[in-house]
Amino acid sequence: MRDEVKRKFVYDFEEGDAAMTNLLGGKGANLAQMVRNGLRVPPGFIITTQACLSYLQEGEKLLEDIWPSIREALSRLEVKTGKKWGKGPFPLLVSVRSGAPVSMPGMMDTILNLGLNSETLPLLSHASQNERFAFDSYRRFIQMYAEVVKGLASASFEEILAEVKAREKIQFDYEISTDGMRSVVSAFLAIYEAKVGEPFPQDPWEQLRQAIAAVFRSWNSSRAITYRELNSIPHTLGTAVNVVSMVFGNLGEQCGTGVCFTRNPSNGCPDLYGEFLINAQGEDVVAGVRTPLPISELRYVMPDMHEELLGVAHSLENYYKDMQDVEFTIENRRLYILQTREGKRSAAAAVKIAHDMVREQIINRQEALKRVTPRDAELLLHKQVPSDVHVSLLAEGLPASPGAGKGIITFTPDEAVRLTSEGQKVVLVRPETSPDDIHGLAVAEAVVTSRGGMTSHAAVVARGMGKPCVTGCESLSINIEQGILQKGDIVLSAGDFITVDGSYGRVLLGDVPLVDAQITAEFSEMLQWADNVASLQVWANADTPLDAKRAREFGAKGIGLCRTEHMFMSQERLPIMERMIVAESKEKRLSDLELLKAMQKEDFRAIFTEMDGYPVIIRLLDPPLHEFLPKEGDIKKRILELPTDMEEKERLFREEELIDMLKKIESLKEVNPMMGFRGCRVGIIYPEIYEMQIRAILEAAIEAQKNGVTVIPEIMIPLVGISGEMEFFRHTVDRIAQEYYKSTGASIDYKVGSMIEVPRAILITEKIALYADFFSFGTNDLTQAVFAYSRDDAESKFLGAYLEKELLTENPFHILDREGVGEMMHFCVDKARKTRQNISLGICGEHGGNPESIAFCHALGLDYVSCSPFRIPVARLAAAQAALGFTN
Ligand code: PEP
Ligand code: MG
Repeated sequence: MRDEVKRKFVYDFEEGDAAMTNLLGGKGANLAQMVRNGLRVPPGFIITTQACLSYLQEGEKLLEDIWPSIREALSRLEVKTGKKWGKGPFPLLVSVRSGAPVSMPGMMDTILNLGLNSETLPLLSHASQNERFAFDSYRRFIQMYAEVVKGLASASFEEILAEVKAREKIQFDYEISTDGMRSVVSAFLAIYEAKVGEPFPQDPWEQLRQAIAAVFRSWNSSRAITYRELNSIPHTLGTAVNVVSMVFGNLGEQCGTGVCFTRNPSNGCPDLYGEFLINAQGEDVVAGVRTPLPISELRYVMPDMHEELLGVAHSLENYYKDMQDVEFTIENRRLYILQTREGKRSAAAAVKIAHDMVREQIINRQEALKRVTPRDAELLLHKQVPSDVHVSLLAEGLPASPGAGKGIITFTPDEAVRLTSEGQKVVLVRPETSPDDIHGLAVAEAVVTSRGGMTSHAAVVARGMGKPCVTGCESLSINIEQGILQKGDIVLSAGDFITVDGSYGRVLLGDVPLVDAQITAEFSEMLQWADNVASLQVWANADTPLDAKRAREFGAKGIGLCRTEHMFMSQERLPIMERMIVAESKEKRLSDLELLKAMQKEDFRAIFTEMDGYPVIIRLLDPPLHEFLPKEGDIKKRILELPTDMEEKERLFREEELIDMLKKIESLKEVNPMMGFRGCRVGIIYPEIYEMQIRAILEAAIEAQKNGVTVIPEIMIPLVGISGEMEFFRHTVDRIAQEYYKSTGASIDYKVGSMIEVPRAILITEKIALYADFFSFGTNDLTQAVFAYSRDDAESKFLGAYLEKELLTENPFHILDREGVGEMMHFCVDKARKTRQNISLGICGEHGGNPESIAFCHALGLDYVSCSPFRIPVARLAAAQAALGFTN
């Protein structure tokens, strides 16, 4: 019995449901569910993904084994439809479509009207009372079969169609006369025979068998493999095959076909959204050959069908609890649903839909939080064309995918790949795109097509990739061979710069300055929900008052890393810093430090004020001192350029100063500066530098507190590797604080803690924790030290190859290496909490803004992650999803 179940490869729609996606594919499982839910779906059956996988291993033998089940399923179809396979009076025709467990738009091919041959053609013509329709159906079938099963190119078929249209002096396929269609069919059959070397198969069973095998094989077509790789879809899923009885949208004016989203996939508004064509068959809508009508027009053309479609949309949303992407056909005013699946949507739409569905009580807040991916959150910070900037419009089309992007025009995907590998930014411009263009779409900044609608290939793929896209720019004439793009008098060539505004469907001339997007009220509210479920807080890496302000706006609950070195880099401060570093006596150094202290104090005061009520971790000076000094060559140039008309004494004095600096630079030279004289080692050798910073922090805190600000200063010591280092600075800070208490009478709560970025510090966690109120994992340095990689060298020399050879699965500087670095963090967290129960633990390396790494930090039980301000929304969402046990 068990074996029988395992070997069951064919399911009628009535036997499946939505939970059987892995076995029946997404399309099949949903068709089955819709049948269960009482929606009108054309009868059909599904051959399972297991059959595909077995076929790819066993070949034709598998088909032999399952053939009896397929014949039986087909007989049941005859009964359900009242039509006959290969016979009259009404011949049964089927579509054969692939359907993987994960939606792969445009990746697999469809064959419609299968079952037509020279015998069933006149029967169809008679039964439908429409001879033209019968020939039209046959020519479509021949072409699809030839392309999908035999791999013929579409060009020769298209040529024939073009010839007939020229002969009949018409523009579109649907205008071809009955005689014209008849001649198209003869010509197609002749092409097929000439190119394949045998006549077009007349036996419907043979047609079916070949079509099923072709769908199985298409799982391993190169474009399917590329799509899976781009989207991290496992190659081991396989595709199911859906064999569905045909219904016809091209039987006349009472028929039509369309695709519709139950809500707007671009902005999330709760209206039916999509397109339809009257008197057309399936592929016509997505192929982008005829520009379809917006679905709202259906209300006027066939009000009853519009009403019914609204009802279907409502019922599907209530069942699936998500926005759906529905394909439908109207055959003589009967609405059939051919497919439903979760609708792909822009990031903006993902937020609006999730938010609205909570309000509509379709889902709860937690569910809503899972509906927005961290990547969506990232995309929401997409660039836009500012409304107040002057732009020159080249063309208008459909706003197929939001955001704005710009670059040089390129007309072919290969060229797009070549140019981007040279560091150029490109916009891919094509009449329309097909799955073969996927590599070009993947690298382009934006996409423009002259044909196609909101559901064309370019539109769907660009939305998925989060790229701006404008489709249906019909006023643009694109000549790929000549490499030009024309609109009236304006002619642009490959290499000319354009800007694409996907949010408003505009193609603009030249390089338009773009602005960063804002967070909508709905997204802000969802981020509040996220904060309520997350156990990790999100803090910011912020070095300036402006950064701090932005961090608060994005919802940071503290500053986890203020890198004070950045404060010394301005034009007015750097010379003082240089002078301080080269000073030959402590006295001289102290006087420059005094100047620097006043400046730093001002910055800290402003940061504390921005962060009123929230903790601010300020890290003392970290980089090697030579980073603040000019290059040797620059000093030599400065010496040569000393003004000749200067007083001799003054000139000598200046020259001497510069020579001293040269000597100092020489003395500070290191073989490996990142492992050299940096971090707290500088503070040990020059305690006055760290003391200056500590004083600046405490004085600023006292002053801000006097002004009514709630200040929570935390002083962080970088690159600690020995407990004595931490002990020394702990005492230094406490001593200085005591002095202030005595002299000012003010008291302030502060913390002193350590960066954890040296492996040795982890091994002696307990000793360091004796002196530290908090630890912050500096996973940038820690990753370098644990792997013994210098990041820049590793990334430029060998990391790429390591990833290619799969020695590493991820770049450990982007996604935290759980196995090595993560294990050390785990050890440290355990020991730290044992030594000091209430120690505050966080991360401030780059990984703090990476969703996968955030999930790990959640599992470790850290208190917060700290990342750059622009990554905060992503991190807040990722922290909530980690708490909800949800990974994308
Ligand atoms: C780190 O090492 O992770 C860190 C945050 O410090 P920096 O990147 O400034 O060295
Ligand atoms: Mg560091």
